[in-house]
Amino acid sequence: MRTTTGWLANSPTTLRRASLNRRDLRPDDLAVRIDYCGVCHSDLHALHDYDHSADAPLVPGHEFTGVVTETGPEVSAFTVGDRVAVGNIVDSCGICAMCAAGQENFCHSFPTLTYGGTDRQDGSTTLGGFSRDYVVRDTFAYRLPSGLDPAAAAPLLCAGVTVWEPLRSLGVGRGSRVAVAGLGGLGHLAVRMAVALGATTTVISRTPDKRDDARRLGAHDLVDSTDTRQMAATRDTFDVVIDTISAPHDLAPYLKLVALDGTLSLLGHLGPVTVEATDLLVGRKKLSSAGSGGRRSTAEMLQFCADNGIAADIEVLPSTQVNTALDRLRRNDVRYRFVLDMSDLD
Ligand SMILES: [Zn+2]
Ligand SMILES: [Zn+2]
Repeated sequence: MRTTTGWLANSPTTLRRASLNRRDLRPDDLAVRIDYCGVCHSDLHALHDYDHSADAPLVPGHEFTGVVTETGPEVSAFTVGDRVAVGNIVDSCGICAMCAAGQENFCHSFPTLTYGGTDRQDGSTTLGGFSRDYVVRDTFAYRLPSGLDPAAAAPLLCAGVTVWEPLRSLGVGRGSRVAVAGLGGLGHLAVRMAVALGATTTVISRTPDKRDDARRLGAHDLVDSTDTRQMAATRDTFDVVIDTISAPHDLAPYLKLVALDGTLSLLGHLGPVTVEATDLLVGRKKLSSAGSGGRRSTAEMLQFCADNGIAADIEVLPSTQVNTALDRLRRNDVRYRFVLDMSDLD
């Protein structure tokens, strides 16, 4: 075992600094010194749902960038000193139909999550990226393209790829009309990517004072979701509606915005939803979802972002302020992603 330092669940809302164990390197493992780790809504949920009396230790964090510090003897794609990024999955079965299709995120035997997952070899519980070091199988680390800022790139590994896969699989490109509902961690990246793909892009927000931000991100318009007149005026308009709203909400007003044969892609809130079938019937509309990304599309997304100057809008905090970041994220008080600087853990 090797030891490192990180932030361990201490209560339903807070973390505390602690010493952590990492496995010794297997032949195909990398050791990564984590420099920056984004703070994701999933981290809040994991902490909230954590049972101290029954569960294995919890260290959140699943979108990070850093530098390779050691490689196992079978690693050929990386060398010490390489800049790398790791997202929210760190292993998969490698042989099922989903893995064969390059969609390790949908692995039939469930992908190994970066934290709170079960290691496929030793059965241990994975501990996440709110720490100084991580040990990861080489195939689930990604080379960080030059030109990407390592802090602003960290959120691409969860928030970024989560919006990238549906944009790509739904064929968004030049001439597409895209709406992004909710302008937060996911939404602001969806806007940047949709614009860079060539789509005419509109933000749907209940916060009209984000209009300037929407324009700065490249959006062509902002529709105030609380204004029924504005919502009615954009009925049946968008080929793709990317719904990143994290709280439970009525889908009907957003389905109304979808154009004939278009798709509402639900990404922010994962849980039961109620849909009136006629809201799909009228206009042959489709309801879809997605999350995380396969290895191929994650690498493709990183290169696209490097080529198009896309990264997250971030507020960097020293990792000692992780509890402040969690608290403010809970109140949606961030534009648009917190990133923790792990250098204070040395
Ligand atoms: Zn995440
Ligand atoms: Zn699989």
